[in-house]
Amino acid sequence: MYPRVILKETLYKKSQQKRRTSPCNYKERIFVLNTQELTYFENRPGKKLTQKGCIELSHIKCVEIVRSDVPIPCEYKYPFQVAHDSYYLYVFAPNNDCRLKWVRALKEATQNNNLFMKYHPDFWVEGKWRCCHQSEKQAAGCCEYYPNGAKPLPPTPDPSRRSSDSEERIVVALKNFTPDEESDLPLHKDEEYFIVDSSEPNWWTVRDKNGHVGSVPCIYIAEKVDIKKFEWYDKDITRTEAENLLLEENKDGGFIVRDSKHAGGYTVSIFARVSGSDGNKYPQVKHYQVRVKKDGEVTKYYLAEKYLFSNIPELIRYHQHNAAGLISRLRHCVSRNAQNSSKTNELNSEKWEIHSDELTLSEEVGSGQFGLVWRGFWNKRQVAVKTVREGFMSEEEFKEEADVMMQLSHSKLVQLFGVVAQPLYLVFEFMENGCLTDFLRAKKGKLSQEDMLKMCLDVSEGMVYLEGSNFIHRDLAARNCLVSEDHVVKISDFGMTRFVLDDQYTSSYGSKFPVKWSAPEVIRFSKYSSKSDVWSFGVLMWEVYSEGRTPHDKRSNAEVVEDLNKGLRLQRPRLCPQSVYELMEWSWKEKPDDRPSFALLLHQLSCLE
Ligand code: ADP
Repeated sequence: MYPRVILKETLYKKSQQKRRTSPCNYKERIFVLNTQELTYFENRPGKKLTQKGCIELSHIKCVEIVRSDVPIPCEYKYPFQVAHDSYYLYVFAPNNDCRLKWVRALKEATQNNNLFMKYHPDFWVEGKWRCCHQSEKQAAGCCEYYPNGAKPLPPTPDPSRRSSDSEERIVVALKNFTPDEESDLPLHKDEEYFIVDSSEPNWWTVRDKNGHVGSVPCIYIAEKVDIKKFEWYDKDITRTEAENLLLEENKDGGFIVRDSKHAGGYTVSIFARVSGSDGNKYPQVKHYQVRVKKDGEVTKYYLAEKYLFSNIPELIRYHQHNAAGLISRLRHCVSRNAQNSSKTNELNSEKWEIHSDELTLSEEVGSGQFGLVWRGFWNKRQVAVKTVREGFMSEEEFKEEADVMMQLSHSKLVQLFGVVAQPLYLVFEFMENGCLTDFLRAKKGKLSQEDMLKMCLDVSEGMVYLEGSNFIHRDLAARNCLVSEDHVVKISDFGMTRFVLDDQYTSSYGSKFPVKWSAPEVIRFSKYSSKSDVWSFGVLMWEVYSEGRTPHDKRSNAEVVEDLNKGLRLQRPRLCPQSVYELMEWSWKEKPDDRPSFALLLHQLSCLE
């Protein structure tokens, strides 16, 4: 008995490029799906159908529509994918209905197979997955695969959540959206929707005002943030009250966000001690109005410099790390709401303080920008003690953050054990083989490919941890990594530049600013993020594969900035495999969002092992 035919139709297919050299082309074929196989035939006028390919249904691992914005150079513009064995077949339907019909039928026919857990929603093009940028064709997918439908059915709204409407998160539609599928919900520009499920990265489930629930693409919506719940927002405080409160708290970087006198606007009031012309520091409160800019259809917010954010919390978060034109970055929230909690947050010095009599210093092992570094002993353990030159860093601020830094603990980070308060000493895990730059130079010509890859893997592991802890390094470079006795590379000096007072180090125009390791947005707007750390990590990988050479060693900082503006990048070091250089190039993408996360970099590097 012949297998039953389920569907038969003319569609286009793209060559599967089983061989690297086969051309990428699109062919019209008659596709036949029966209960056992998916077969396609060439149909030449006046000739018999010739079978050109056949996929046994039992070999299929995933069938899904392809969501892509690449131009499709054939007549049929609605692609879907059939992943089978280790190949991907891309098929193009004349319209969405036809595509959905094929995808559903194929999913149904293959639902009991050994299927992928995850798949790639976009095409494999020119040696890369367009969705996740992985360059290994067999790399695991980056999106959950749902064999029983294009997406999971929207969860039934939880009735208990209705009663607590004030807690519900709201999104606003940025554009109209017309659904592709039954489980999607139409969006109407500027209307509000309640979030039902935001766990998926690309599609959220939302509820409209009539109670209809469905999926919508995240890029069409923006979350409406209710700033009332933030500690730093004090709605009713007046300008004078805010000034008094900030002066009373007397903390550099103390800030309050309040309603401005212009209806619907906000003001950020900040306290700082500012140097007068006589060299003395004087307390000052400055008020900055949050400015609004319409960027196409979208409203953006900014403060002193024109650096734009989608909402006020994002803007505050940015300025908590970057002064960017303000008299100080936003260091302490001192609004009346926060008074109690800021007290409880106040540092318990016992957590980090090491008494000088617990510490013995044996010999000097190095000297850095902060001061001399000593080998010593504390609690019967060998430690490195960094002394700090007077006036080099803001000791008060460092002490305030010391316990946060001590809580960062990972096998690929140089552990901070504690701090001697007076004079200020920082006590770290001791690293026998010193700094990575010196180690690379000393081992020149003797490092194997495995050694170099392992160094990059060590650093990326530590950085995945920092990224996951929302901690930005800000000065990642080989000189700020240290090597242990058994040649493990660990990251040091994370976040330390925030406490340096010398402008020559901290301003991107300063002669000691690490321009050669810095992302363009750091040089231009001091915009630090984990993605600017990714850029620096790309340079660090370059240093490893160049055996400790200084990047752009013959160029001045100004020339490097000029090169960056022209889109030029460091060249591939002789010892660096193309696959690693591609990761460097990816880390040096102009736009931070185009760079990979550390988690993805670690994954990619470990695939090269
Ligand atoms: P800075 O950050 O102040 O410029 P570094 O961290 O570069 O100082 O330290 C200067 C030198 O001291 C390093 O090159 C290294 O040789 C030594 N050193 C620093 N920290 C340690 C440590 N934890 N263990 C061993 N040696 C260290």
